[in-house]
Amino acid sequence: MAISNTRKLLLLPGDGIGPEVVREVKKIIEWLNKNKSLDFKIEEELIGGASIDAHKIPITDEVFYKSLECDAVILGACGGPKWDKLEFSKKPERALLKLRKELKLFANLRPAICFEQLVDSSTLKPEIVSGLDIMIVRELTGGIYFGEPRGIEPIKNNERKGINTHTYTTAEIKRIAKVAFDLAKKRKNKVTSCEKSNVMEAGVLWREEVQDLKDKEFKNVELEHMLADNCAMQLLRNPKQFDVILADNLFGDMLSDEAAMLTGSLGLLPSASLGSKDKNGKLRSLYEPVHGSAPDIAGKNIANPIATILSLSMALRYSLDLDKEADLLDQAVQKVLNDGLRTKDIVSKGKKEVTTSQMGDAIISKLN
Ligand code: NAD
Repeated sequence: MAISNTRKLLLLPGDGIGPEVVREVKKIIEWLNKNKSLDFKIEEELIGGASIDAHKIPITDEVFYKSLECDAVILGACGGPKWDKLEFSKKPERALLKLRKELKLFANLRPAICFEQLVDSSTLKPEIVSGLDIMIVRELTGGIYFGEPRGIEPIKNNERKGINTHTYTTAEIKRIAKVAFDLAKKRKNKVTSCEKSNVMEAGVLWREEVQDLKDKEFKNVELEHMLADNCAMQLLRNPKQFDVILADNLFGDMLSDEAAMLTGSLGLLPSASLGSKDKNGKLRSLYEPVHGSAPDIAGKNIANPIATILSLSMALRYSLDLDKEADLLDQAVQKVLNDGLRTKDIVSKGKKEVTTSQMGDAIISKLN
């Protein structure tokens, strides 16, 4: 019996510019099916505000189970002003938190690469960002975003108290630190681990456990500990000192957005969220651009689709074992930038401004 080569990709366009940028990804998957004899089966479902409008909840059970069965999930973005007034537990973004939590996607990989063609788009001087290539590894399922107790409760004098709890266990810290060390071995062999051990016990534990793992299993990888606030400052002062930055959920969230801006635009940065392998050896994974739903530009066909297209490239590499196709796609993006084509967010003098769909078409023409 012939072994089926069919791979299932679940596309969750979501809200705002999500559908516009995911549309370009779909075109590329169709190109791969046609020209590289791949057999991707694409399914497309609602998530976030779009799902709330249709089903009253940010993600249905049906969509959730599909995400468990597919080979990779590619998401656009969730959220927008239309749903901002909903109670926190019913907001569009809860869908994303549910996927991350239930698929146990504990590792968020965010590369921050400064494309040579776009050094001028960064707010920093070209010499500071030229050649920048950092990988931020953010813990995604623990820490203060999930810790209990949490909530807002009344206290005396008609005042209220907001509570969130920051917790990490040895196992949670070592699991994410291992991802960072493994990645560093394939890169420049250096990990910078960030916490606030000067003021937080959970930070002291983080530092000790990361050091312990290095001493026992990664003796040859360079490890540097840095306070998270210093890391935020160093990212602006001298970002090229970093190779892999390891951080918890909260600090990783902030540091990766800061690193995003070093590269010029949020519209360029992909991300991968990885879990463990299931019993069939399938890696649980979710790929999405770093940016949100950008309501200010939604529906105008001007969003930059490159972050989402590069998220597909990460899916090809990490979930689908298609490194050659991932390289091809990365190169096609480079070639289009070399030709001077730019979406509105990254356009500069002398470059040609293109729409979202024109950018997708141009990348496909380079694949050809
Ligand atoms: P955002 O990333 O959506 O937008 C920030 C700024 O960057 C905006 O000016 C926007 O126009 C611009 N921008 C973002 N992506 C772009 C692209 N591809 N091309 C060109 N310009 C781009 O962040 P925000 O404004 O803070 O959030 C908007 C909504 O998105 C909120 O509801 C938020 O909760 C949600 N959000 C969702 C995710 C996600 O789904 N993963 C992540 C972040 C924010």
